Amino acid sequence: MTVIDSLVENNRVYADALEPRHLPLEPSRRLAIVTCMDSRLDVFAALGLGDGEAHVLRNAGGVITDDVIRSLAISQRRLGTREVMLIHHTDCGMQKLTDDGFRTELREATGVAPAFAIESFTDVDADVRQSIRRVRRSDFVPHRDVVRGFVYDVDTHRLREVTVDQL
Ligand SMILES: [Zn+2]
Repeated sequence: MTVIDSLVENNRVYADALEPRHLPLEPSRRLAIVTCMDSRLDVFAALGLGDGEAHVLRNAGGVITDDVIRSLAISQRRLGTREVMLIHHTDCGMQKLTDDGFRTELREATGVAPAFAIESFTDVDADVRQSIRRVRRSDFVPHRDVVRGFVYDVDTHRLREVTVDQL
């Protein structure tokens, strides 16, 4: 039995305990969150969110990539979200590699250098500021007056806001 098999069984129990219901497609809090794929951050629990309330976009590092901008553009232009919350975190895996080192590792293992940027970082606050700036500078994302960034402490579970002085 694989891990996935056990999760499929978990879902059966989960669904059996719930009444069917249909929520609106548009998130009710009109919020999109961009964060890391880290397994220690339960976004809905940590922020007191429920089903149907916010979009959650995740990748390694919570990086503002072209694909995240694509999702934010759809989230705001088609699905009604207005605020963007960016959450990086302590002890991130992206602080434990370097762009050049991982790029070389991929090239040596496969014979092909990746077309994508690795986007490792050392200073988490600086990376949050860069992420805020990337969202604020994208015309594809129409609502940029509320774009706020945070660092989540994976040990204490607390959020700390990181601000930028200017665009
Ligand atoms: Zn991370």
